[in-house]
Formats: sequence, structure tokens, C-alpha cells
Amino acid sequence: MNFNTVALIKKTRNKTALSSDEIKYLVDGFSTGSIPDYQISAWLMAVFLNSISVEETNTLTQLMAHSGKMIDWRKISPAYRDAHIVDKHSSGGIGDKVSFILIGLCTAMGMKIPMMGGRGLGHTGGTIDKLESVPGFTTELGFNDLERLFSEVGSYIMGQTQDICPADKKLYSLRDVTGTVESLPLITASIVSKKLAEGLDAIVYDVKCGSAAFMESLAEARALAQSLVRVTQKSGVKAKALITRMQAPLGAYVGNSLEVRESLNILGNEYPSANDRRLAEPLKNLCVQLAAHMAVLSGLGTDMSAMINLAKEKINDGQALQKFKAMVTAQGGKPGWEEKLPQSKNKLVLEAPKNGYLESFHSRGLGLIGIELGMGRKKADDKLNFGVGYKISVAEGDEVFKGQPLLELYHDGTHNEEMLRDELLHCFVLSDSPSQQLNDNLVIEIVEGEQI
Ligand code: URA
Repeated sequence: MNFNTVALIKKTRNKTALSSDEIKYLVDGFSTGSIPDYQISAWLMAVFLNSISVEETNTLTQLMAHSGKMIDWRKISPAYRDAHIVDKHSSGGIGDKVSFILIGLCTAMGMKIPMMGGRGLGHTGGTIDKLESVPGFTTELGFNDLERLFSEVGSYIMGQTQDICPADKKLYSLRDVTGTVESLPLITASIVSKKLAEGLDAIVYDVKCGSAAFMESLAEARALAQSLVRVTQKSGVKAKALITRMQAPLGAYVGNSLEVRESLNILGNEYPSANDRRLAEPLKNLCVQLAAHMAVLSGLGTDMSAMINLAKEKINDGQALQKFKAMVTAQGGKPGWEEKLPQSKNKLVLEAPKNGYLESFHSRGLGLIGIELGMGRKKADDKLNFGVGYKISVAEGDEVFKGQPLLELYHDGTHNEEMLRDELLHCFVLSDSPSQQLNDNLVIEIVEGEQI
């Protein structure tokens, strides 16, 4: 069906809903190139400013999902008839290595995880970048590789390709340069369309909330969680969302290869120090809860506490670690890759300048300094320095003493250490009076379909 593109832009500009055919015309026209970028940019800005309805968001999501290949595992092989095919999506944050831990844990519990990850842009780092710090690892997988990994290992982490959700890839690049990323319906359609294309039975969203995350306030996080769950369920895939606290970096390590290393520690229940174990505890606890929700939602189990016990068992008996290692090796990780994760040679130890209590982190500041040092990118084609990273030694609420290490920075020696020390100190807010010691449960709220 043919429409006038300008008339459609004006409709959204004037807050009049578009029909499914009209949205299809825009998505198809953009995908084939018959509608130019400047008109789609104008439409995206109208969506950003006025939002669109739930129905329009559903339609946009479906069209984006169907712009490429939709994997249907049960059509590929009858062996998957009774499989529990499930994934999680995290809205990301500093030190967020949940995907690695969950993939080992859930595969060991008996779920199948066909995960598509993203690259980092901005202060929070991307799953694909972190894994590419493993010597030999590749996320550029053809469809035959995906099938092999799914049947032999039970999981994979792939990068976004031209075949899956090409409309999202194109639209996201345009949003990135037109100031239209932070729009609830556009974020929802972008995330959910990719998940629908993976061929899932169920998905659990981990919507992070706080100063170290994309959504800083609970109201924003709740709105995103509700939108993701609503649109996913509407598409016939089971969904729930956990809104989780993210004031501080997640775990004790931040930086591409350091986060892979910490994931191995957590999966193997073996840590270099008691303090590393203490700082990893809330993250481990979150992964166990997410895995249990994924198990129940996908029908692997019915009882949350039984699934929590199963997840803990799979860490304690080593199977979760073994599954994660098997996946990395099957995706090209060179023999002995665990021992070859890069770590930059120069170490700066940041010490507490006075006695006091750690009130909070400026996590965004830590992320931005990290980008300057090569942990993340400013531009899409920036090269990363995989061995750069932080080892954090304190948690919010800790009492600290003058001279005590707050953080170690591993870097390549090309930056002035005194300036770095000054900038890093601003990321630790120390107070004279005791601040609240937070508990290990990061889950703030659970959003399920019935509540929406
Ligand atoms: N992640 C996505 O995949 N898309 C968005 O729009 C935002 C975060």
C-alpha cells in the first residue's frame, strides 16, 4: 500500500495514531531505502517527542522482528519440541556481567539460551566486546554455527547480523545520531524485536535502576519494564521483568577481560580473596534469582525455591562453569584461554584520603574515565584496550580508613597517573557519618503481566 510519507510524519507530529499499514509502509520504505533517512529521522523525533500508543508499539515491534530471519527452533528440529528456550535481557550498567554467569548457569540447569548481544557505546560496555577479550573468541556466527552450538552446547552468544532484525540495526544507527535513543516505544520495539527473532519461549528482563544504569529513577525503570513485558506477551512469548538496584558497579571488577575473569570466579565459586567474594555476592545472588525465574517462566520447573536450589547446586558442582567454558571454547576460545585473558601491566592503587564511610560511587564517572582509557568507545569504530579495568575494593556503606585501597586501576601507562588519581577520587563519595549498609538482594520489584 502506498502512502504519503510527509502526511504520516505529520500524523505522528499531531499525535494521531498510525494504522498498521501506515507503520508497515514506513518500516519497509526505510529498510529498502525508498524512504530517505531524513524523513525517518523526522518521524523518529516525532515519536520521541509525542510517544506512540501501545498498539503502534506492538505493530512496530512485529514489523521490525519480521524484517529479517525469525528463528523457529521447533521447525529446525523435532529434538527441540520439549526444550526450554529462554533468554534474559539486561538494560546494562557498569560491571554488568550477568549474561556470562547466566548462560553457564541456565545451560547447566537444562535450559537452552540463544543469546544475541550488543556492543557498548557510552559508559556501560557491551557483552560482545567483553567476550572478544578472550583470545580467539568470535561472535560472528553463521546460521550453521548457531545450529551446531545450540545442539552441542545448548547456548551461544552471537553479535547482531544483517540477517536478524536488519530494520533495528538501521533504525538504531539513525537514532544514535539524531538524539532519539531515549524513547520508551523505540527502546521497547528495538529490544523486543531482537528477542522475538531469537525464537524464544520466554524472556526475563533485568531492568537496572540507579545511577550506574541507563534508567536512573524507579519510575523510569518501571515504565520500561512494563512496556517490555506488555509488548513481549502480546507477541505470544512469556515475559516478566525484575527491576534491580544499580547504584554501584556490579561485582568487584569492571573492564572487558576483567569481567570475564570475575564471571569465571563466580561460576566456579572460587575467588582470589575473601573481599572479592564479598563484593561478588549480590551479583551472584541476582544471577541465581534470574536463573530461577527463567526456569519457572520457561516451564523447566514450577517452584521458585526448588529452582533457586538447583541453580546453587549447579554452581557448587562445577557444571555451570563447565558449560560456560564449553560455550567459549566452541565459539573459538583458544586452548587455555582462561589463563590468557589480557590484563594491562600498569597498576595504580587509589587510597582513601581520610577516614570515613563510603556513601556512594559516581559510577557514571568511573565509566567515563574507563572510556578514556580504552575500556569503552566514544565512536562506533574506536578500538578497545581489553586489558584495562578496575578492581574495586569497597562497597557502599563500608567504613574506610585513610590509606586503605579503594580501587586498583590496570592501564597501559599512556595517561598521567596524578590526573587519573584525582579524577578517580571524585568517583568515591566519603562521608564522616555511617551510611546505610545495603543488603545483598538487588531485586527491587518484579513486573509480571497480570499487574499491567
Ligand atoms: N538496547 C537496544 O537494543 N535498543 C535500544 O533502543 C536501547 C537499548
